[in-house]
Amino acid sequence: MLMTPGPTALPPSVREAAGEELLNPDVDPAFADRYDALERKLSTVFGTDDEVVVLGGEGILGLEAAIASTVAPGDRVLCLSNGPYGDGFADFVESYGGEATLVDADYDGPLPVDDLEATLAEESFDLATMVHCETPTGTLNDLDAALDLFDAHDVLTVVDAVSSLGGVPVPTDRIDVALGASQKCFSAPPGLAVCAVSDAAWERIEARDPDSLYTNLLPWHDAEQPYPYTHLSTLVVALDAALDLLLEEGLDAVYDRHREAARVCRERGRELGLEPYPDSERSSPTVTAFSVPGRATELQERLQSDHDVTLSTGLGGLANDVLRVGHMGYNADVERVARTMDALGTAL
Ligand SMILES: *Cc1c(COP(=O)(O)O)cnc(C)c1O
Repeated sequence: MLMTPGPTALPPSVREAAGEELLNPDVDPAFADRYDALERKLSTVFGTDDEVVVLGGEGILGLEAAIASTVAPGDRVLCLSNGPYGDGFADFVESYGGEATLVDADYDGPLPVDDLEATLAEESFDLATMVHCETPTGTLNDLDAALDLFDAHDVLTVVDAVSSLGGVPVPTDRIDVALGASQKCFSAPPGLAVCAVSDAAWERIEARDPDSLYTNLLPWHDAEQPYPYTHLSTLVVALDAALDLLLEEGLDAVYDRHREAARVCRERGRELGLEPYPDSERSSPTVTAFSVPGRATELQERLQSDHDVTLSTGLGGLANDVLRVGHMGYNADVERVARTMDALGTAL
């Protein structure tokens, strides 16, 4: 039972769609229709009229493409961070010649917004980056205060919503480039990065002299057809089937299901003496990182070998200190979470 915070287990209809006969994405009109439909469904999940593009590559491609497309050498970018993905944005910015100012907080604390107003009054920035759900720590960030300030100071925003989109409402209409991926709350196979790009962001992207191609969003905006290269058609068809499930259920019901799965996961954890790593108010409805100092790897191995349940450990400095249960997408299911926690109880 694959209960990692992405990739998740695939629902049966998504597995079937991935096994359909191949459509030639460049030639077959049936594929163009499928892609159109996928873009429309994604707009509904993002909750935006912004143009949506689906890149052929896993989630990281979306993060890199957002920066490669909007950052020119010398541009000033403010990276707000309380986790590994937030920190990582600064590396992307620097690798495309931008000047990153990383404002970072403790990984178990909130996004560092207290001094943001003063910082923005003193210095000007072209772009700001943030992460909605920091999957490695199980933290869902409240972006409102930061988005208000960036809006007031005309700073374009890039938000990694890879592990929240489809499980938690994302404030896409207040974000210039909002990023998601197929293998998290959509429960499709890994391999597609989805981006909602505002008109202001396209203006900036068009005004730049692009020095990248596959990692640039511009060809997706300019192309006569909505995708500039042979698309990953099997993955597109699978993601389309995954979105059908989500939209048939209804987004409000989907969000409720995630909250309920998270509640059950944490309640069962508490009964086992386990607490979430961040303050429980900030724990994401899509993933729980239980604090298990020094024991994460051993517990993960035991769950895998004795119970056939796959969980994730932490990343970086937290590698052996948190054990992560993904309850996103298909796995945001009380019965699957309960089976996982039964196994964890036995392993403990
Ligand atoms: C999963 C994830 C990504 C994408 O990483 P992959 O290597 O595609 O899994 C980016 N950001 C966050 C917050 C994620 O959870």
